[in-house]
Amino acid sequence: MATIAILGTGTMGAPIARNLLRAGFEVRAWNRTPAKAQALAADGAHYASLPSAAARDADVVITMLADGPAVEQVMTGQAGALQALSPGAVWIQMSTIGVEWTGRLAELAARRGVTFVDAPVSGSSEPAARGELVILASGARPVRAAVAPIFDVLGRQTLWLDRVGDGSRLKLVLNNWLAVQVEGMAETLSLSATLGLDPHLFVGTIAGGPLASGYAVAKGSAMLDADFRPGFPLRHAAKDATLARDAATDRGAALPLTDALLRRWQEAIALGHGDDDVASAVTASPITRSGETVSA
Ligand code: NAP
Repeated sequence: MATIAILGTGTMGAPIARNLLRAGFEVRAWNRTPAKAQALAADGAHYASLPSAAARDADVVITMLADGPAVEQVMTGQAGALQALSPGAVWIQMSTIGVEWTGRLAELAARRGVTFVDAPVSGSSEPAARGELVILASGARPVRAAVAPIFDVLGRQTLWLDRVGDGSRLKLVLNNWLAVQVEGMAETLSLSATLGLDPHLFVGTIAGGPLASGYAVAKGSAMLDADFRPGFPLRHAAKDATLARDAATDRGAALPLTDALLRRWQEAIALGHGDDDVASAVTASPITRSGETVSA
């Protein structure tokens, strides 16, 4: 079985590490805040105090970190993992970092002789814990068979795309759709209340019908219950919407809806909701009815 170094054992990285351990892989875990990686020792992981120590002689390194700058720092900064990897090793990059960062990191990997696999994921902490992520993988044809047993443990589906970086492109597209649905739900609940309707009526009316998506209904219910326990934190959703908006702008296109919602989400983050679930975006559109706050 391959030895896998996991760099970043936060909300997503920790369940990924646990699933690999359960499947019999040897796992080395590193995290900037050591306690989160040390906690995985109880599941059989080897704690590494530095990214380079985790990566040394590993067959595969998985990065599951916040954003592009964090991945670059962990891979190429002081005691970075890249210099410790042997040429021929595989780097599976699963963080959501957008198109430009993916290209830049793929180049760094190529210079070291390391095979880069662009593989962001769709699905939050619960699908991650159940091993039911959707893996949006691209490029890397020569190592597809070698990484398949890893992806089979982590996901319910691996979508292989030919052009390197298309996994990250598709991830931006998916998360732009997610963002628009969340903001649409928040503002429509607010509209319902403004019109003097019970906002539960809206969610109840669309549920199960063609106007509903399961995701939007789940987030609408969370908004009504003011249940903002993190699954997908608002700060990550805002990061991804920013990556999508910027990728469009760089190519001479525009995402006016995304641009508008980002301004409102920054308000919610300023109110202290960055670590709360993306459903807390509703705090920028309070659901008030007849002068009474129903939620948020
Ligand atoms: P998280 O719980 O916030 O964990 C982020 C990880 O990045 C932590 O290990 C954190 O270390 C580390 N980190 C942040 N800045 C760093 C830096 N400058 N240097 C070194 N390490 C740094 O995030 P997550 O939910 O696991 O998400 C990880 C990635 O997956 C993100 O790109 C996110 O957009 C994506 N994603 C998330 C979800 C989801 O539902 N949560 C779903 C799909 C994709 P510390 O522990 O020390 O802070």
